[in-house]
Amino acid sequence: MNNDEILQLRQKHVYPTKVPYYKTPIHLVRAKGSYVWDDKGEKYLDVIGGIVSISVGHNHPRIVKKIKAMLEGDAIQHTTFLYLSEYMPELAKKLAEVAPKGLSKCYLTNSGSEANEMAVLSARTYTGEPMVVGLQHGYHGGTTTPLSLCGHSTWKFRSQPQACVTHAKAPYCYRCPFGQKKESCNLECADDVKETILTTTSGKIAAFICEPILGVGGFIEPPVGYHKKVFDIVKSFGGLYISDEVQTGVGRTGVHFFAIEDSGVEPDIISMAKGIGNGAPVGAIIAKAEVADSLKGKLHFNTFGGDPYQAMQAATTIDIIRDEGLIENANKMGRYLKEGMQDLQKSFPVIGDIRGRGLLIGLELVKDQKTKEVAPVAAAQLLEFAKEEKLLIGKGGLFANVIRLAPALNINKAECDELLGKLKRAFEKLAKA
Ligand code: PMP
Repeated sequence: MNNDEILQLRQKHVYPTKVPYYKTPIHLVRAKGSYVWDDKGEKYLDVIGGIVSISVGHNHPRIVKKIKAMLEGDAIQHTTFLYLSEYMPELAKKLAEVAPKGLSKCYLTNSGSEANEMAVLSARTYTGEPMVVGLQHGYHGGTTTPLSLCGHSTWKFRSQPQACVTHAKAPYCYRCPFGQKKESCNLECADDVKETILTTTSGKIAAFICEPILGVGGFIEPPVGYHKKVFDIVKSFGGLYISDEVQTGVGRTGVHFFAIEDSGVEPDIISMAKGIGNGAPVGAIIAKAEVADSLKGKLHFNTFGGDPYQAMQAATTIDIIRDEGLIENANKMGRYLKEGMQDLQKSFPVIGDIRGRGLLIGLELVKDQKTKEVAPVAAAQLLEFAKEEKLLIGKGGLFANVIRLAPALNINKAECDELLGKLKRAFEKLAKA
C-alpha cells in the first residue's frame, strides 16, 4: 500500500479526530534503539518515541528475545484475569519494588486513560466522596473521567458532560497565573488548590490528580515545593493524592523511578502507561493496600489488562532500566542536552523558555521574549525543518507552541550531539523562513 492509499483509507474509514504530523506524513516501518526508518528507507533520529512511549529504545534486544521465545513456545497470548498467569503478578511485584514505600497493589490496564479511570474510581470508592480536583493545562486521557479532568479547551468536547470535577490554576511559572516572578513567588498556585476546594466543592474531596510535570500541557514544571504544599492541603480535606506518571514515570526525570518521589509527597495512587510498556499497550495503577482493598467484593474487570505479552514487556522494561542504569543516564544526558538547548537559546530568541527534567525537555516558542506572545506557526514549521534534518520531535501546550523532546532513556552522548546538531540546523532554517 502506498502512502496516498493509506491516507485515503484513513480518510474513508478512520475517525478524523487526530491527523498525522507533517504536510507529507511519514510512514514508519522499522525501528532499532533511538532510530526509526520510513517506507523509503530514510533513517530518522527519534527523540519523541511515539508520544513519550519508548523508554528503553525501540526493539530492545532483551525484549525481542523474550517475545521470540514466547512465540516459538506457543505461549498463550491472552488469558484474562479469570485464569492464572505468572506474568501479571510478576509485573505487579516489580512495580511494587520500584514504587515509593507504601504503594503495593496494582491494577493492570491497556492505556493511561483506563489507568486514570481506575485511579479515580479507587479514590471515590475509598473516600465515599465524588469530587476530584485537577489542574488547568493538565491532561489525563481521552475517556470520560480523564477528559472531564482535562485542562485544555482544545481537547474538550462541548457535548461531553463533566461530572464532579473542578480545576485549580496551573503551576506554570513561565506564564504565572498570579503574575508572580521567581523571586517573589509564594506558591500562590498551590494555595489555589485550597481556594478551589473551598469555593467549588462541599469541602470534602475524593482526590487531587496531577502530573509531576504537565506533559501534554508542554512539559510545565511546577515550582519547587509546589507538590508538597498541595499534598498537605489535599490531606487536610481528606483527599487522596494521585500522581499521573504516564509521561514522567520509568525514571524519565532522572532521579527516581517515579518523578513524584523527588518532592516529599507520599502519593496514595500512581498511574502509569506509555513508557512502562516501551511501546506495548500497558497501563497500570499502583495504590496503597487499603485503597485497593476498599474495592473488595466489587466486580471490576479489564479483559486484556495484564495479558502475558504486554506484562512481560513491561516487566522486562523495568529490569532493563535497573540493569543498564538508565535513570542515571537520563539524568546525565538530560543535563547535557539542557546545556545544549541553553546554547541554542543564545542564537535563537524564538526559544522563550527551556524546561523539564532528565529526558523530558520542553522548549516554549514565542514571537517576542518580552511579550511572550505564543508562536504556534513557528513550532509547526520547526517540526517540518526537523523532519528535513531526519529528526523526529514532538509538540504540545495549550497553544501548540512547545517543542517536546523525550528520547529513549538509553540515548548516548553521540546521539545527543546528533540531536543538538540537527535541531540547530532546523532552528537556522526557521530563522531564515
Ligand atoms: N495521562 C497523561 C499524563 C498522558 O500524557 C496521557 C496520554 N497523552 C494519558 C494519561 C492517557 O494515556 P492513553 O493515551 O494511553 O490513554
